[in-house]
Amino acid sequence: MANLLNEERFLHELEAELAIDSVTGQYHELQDYLVKEIEEIGFSASVMHKGGILVTLNEGGENPVLLTAHGDTIGLMVRHINPDGTLKVCKVGGLYAYHAERENVFVHTDSGRVITGCIQRKNASVHVTEDELDKEVPNFDTNSFVVLDEDVHSAEDVRKIGIDIGDYVALDPRFEYRNGYIKSHFVDDKALVALLMEFLKDVKDGKIKLSRKVYIYISFFEEIGHGGSAIPDDVKDFLALDIACIGPEQTSDERKATVFCKDSRFPYNQDLVKELSAAGKAAGADYVRDIFTPHYGTDADPALVAGYDVRHAALGPGTRASHGYERTHIDGMQNVYKVMCEWISR
Ligand SMILES: [Zn+2]
Repeated sequence: MANLLNEERFLHELEAELAIDSVTGQYHELQDYLVKEIEEIGFSASVMHKGGILVTLNEGGENPVLLTAHGDTIGLMVRHINPDGTLKVCKVGGLYAYHAERENVFVHTDSGRVITGCIQRKNASVHVTEDELDKEVPNFDTNSFVVLDEDVHSAEDVRKIGIDIGDYVALDPRFEYRNGYIKSHFVDDKALVALLMEFLKDVKDGKIKLSRKVYIYISFFEEIGHGGSAIPDDVKDFLALDIACIGPEQTSDERKATVFCKDSRFPYNQDLVKELSAAGKAAGADYVRDIFTPHYGTDADPALVAGYDVRHAALGPGTRASHGYERTHIDGMQNVYKVMCEWISR
């Protein structure tokens, strides 16, 4: 019988992870949270010097495989403090102003104080500047900025409350679960981190038997391209769990799992694509195969670029509006879990 994700527990885990801001590079709080949780499940976790979590399962097994999902998200950073007390921001990873407009944000200062605000356009009122609103495209360089929920009217005022250049600015994740649909700015990739935490619990409970040595790797640098560039030396197979983007001519579907055949960098390992497809069939999972061009990659790619002699693959749930207000479905998560657990148990 195929492995089933404990949906209630999974959603609870996802919500907890989403409540912790973790723009790429801002990893300490989520890392601490996950390490504590992994230890409570009953495994030991080691942390990487640059940030990242490794858990080793079935230590004596052969043919080591690494499963990864990334805990970092796209976000923003304070680029400049404007003379009127608003903040110019730049993106960290691929967060565009049209996807961030009108969202509440959290500015993380050095002291630990978190100051709230909202992304607004300069011409934001339909009653005053309707024509400009219609014509302009939101852009962080020219017309979109953070308006702080503080009584600040100058750059000096802003500095006085502790904000400085380089402070991380995180978007409200806006998690919603409606009728099976999972919505948030950061389905990518916290849904898959939560799924790996469920996998750990099921391994601990003896529901999943492992024959191979398995590494679980939570990366915090996928969105800028180097999460997968440092892995244990004995890894033979590298499976990245990440969202499968939906769009014209894509087969990916919110209710299905997707086996990645190629992204904008490389074809995935042909043998692993076949193995994952066969595992999907054997598990009775609803899955498709898909190709992602022109702008997509996973943490599996940088492992090859870094010189590791691994077979690489990627698997994930169909996800709408990638890097926007993303949406997938609990059935998609179930199907990913079925394919992954079947493949890893072989
Ligand atoms: Zn991702």
